[in-house]
Amino acid sequence: MNNNETVPMSSDARFMVDQMILQGHERIHSDDQNLCKLFMSELTNIYQDQNLSSEEMDLLDMPRRSFTVHFPVRMDSGITRMFVGHRVQYNDARGPTKGGTRFHPELTLDHVKDLAFLMALKCAAVNIPLGGAKGGVVANPKELSKNELEEMTRAYVRAISDFIGPQKDIPAPDVYTDEQIMVWILDEYERIKGEHTPAVVTGKPIELGGSLVRKYSTSLGGFYVMEEAMVKLGLDKSASIAIQGFGNVGENAARILADNGYKIIAVSDSRGGILNPNGLDFPSVKAHKVTTGSVVDLPGCTSITNEELMVCDCDILIPAALSNQLNKDNADHVMASLIIELANAPTTTKADEIFFERNIMVIPDILANAGGVVVSYFEWIQNLSNDYWKEKKVLDRLQWTMISSFNDIFKLYQQNNNTMRRAALGLAIKRILHAEQLRGNL
Ligand code: NAD
Repeated sequence: MNNNETVPMSSDARFMVDQMILQGHERIHSDDQNLCKLFMSELTNIYQDQNLSSEEMDLLDMPRRSFTVHFPVRMDSGITRMFVGHRVQYNDARGPTKGGTRFHPELTLDHVKDLAFLMALKCAAVNIPLGGAKGGVVANPKELSKNELEEMTRAYVRAISDFIGPQKDIPAPDVYTDEQIMVWILDEYERIKGEHTPAVVTGKPIELGGSLVRKYSTSLGGFYVMEEAMVKLGLDKSASIAIQGFGNVGENAARILADNGYKIIAVSDSRGGILNPNGLDFPSVKAHKVTTGSVVDLPGCTSITNEELMVCDCDILIPAALSNQLNKDNADHVMASLIIELANAPTTTKADEIFFERNIMVIPDILANAGGVVVSYFEWIQNLSNDYWKEKKVLDRLQWTMISSFNDIFKLYQQNNNTMRRAALGLAIKRILHAEQLRGNL
């Protein structure tokens, strides 16, 4: 689950954590549905703000390729079961498409299409030369044996192998898919093509061409944009920080902040939160979570609810758990002056408006949590060049990419007197349309 676990876990705590990971995947799938709703309503406003023509809107509203495959898998019982897979390659004007592969029982082509569009915009917002894609299989991995999961993954790759590839479309991990699944995708693709092709998929283990830093890249990217935003707002290291969520993203964010001398005053997970206005000791919080499965009840801290965490007296608020956490009911009471959206869609449209009126800066998810896709892009470059970077090079390039993206978006935000979210989405749309114009498609 985590790249920097040092304390051995009891089997009970391990079971609890495994259950949390499974529940987390369920939650992220439904949060993504909220994300898509929010994003579609924002898009309508942006199309109007930018006065887009109907041909521009049509070009943006339709994916370049969207398809469904049906394929047989021999189950352990000996019977053959048909599975349904989808893949959407949204826009490739700026480069090959790239995006996650999700295994989920409620996966639909429409949802995959929305998520692929979001990926296209995320890649354009941080100016990496990739388009957006998404895909997956309609399946519940919890009901499959390891052998069935492998057979299903390989059969899906066989069904889509003509349409993916390092210069076409590059899958990555997503809900219920991990490094092992990426290795099966890689291996099956290479068997079909008869040659080594590590750049066909990202999110691989280091030994098979993965990149250093990937496992905490989302949190680190958010940290770099946070530091840049702090400069604009005149905040310094004495700023107090509250983090909602202590999973992959929230815990890594807390570790990075602690390592860099920042004061974290509150953290939480699904069971509740803890607060210490003098600052929490990260190693103690981490050790407490490893032994008990949660951050709650750490000695020396005040217990708070997740609702209280969102409105606690802090300078920087980092939602890193769920969607819709900042909404019309609490937005007026938020005390932070800077919000870094590491989670997807933690802020509702109404709350965004309230924060804008209250002069609270929100760094939107499309920018704040883009570090993951940026390091996936670095993995792809390393695979193509067969030249593997030292950690420092990955860190430097991630920092440069995140800071320059922040500044591009911040400039538009200042010019247009609108939210950072609209500035980021607007810039992404402009970049895609510009590439289409250069190609003669508009
Ligand atoms: P995770 O499942 O590892 O962790 C989620 C955390 O949220 C856990 O600590 C969990 O206890 C906590 N949580 C669950 N319900 C809660 C509640 N009601 N109140 C407060 N906390 C609650 O997930 P993650 O990978 O850390 O992802 C967190 C968010 O970041 C999601 O919105 C996800 O879509 C987004 N995100 C993740 C990545 C990534 O690289 N993992 C990339 C981009 C965006």
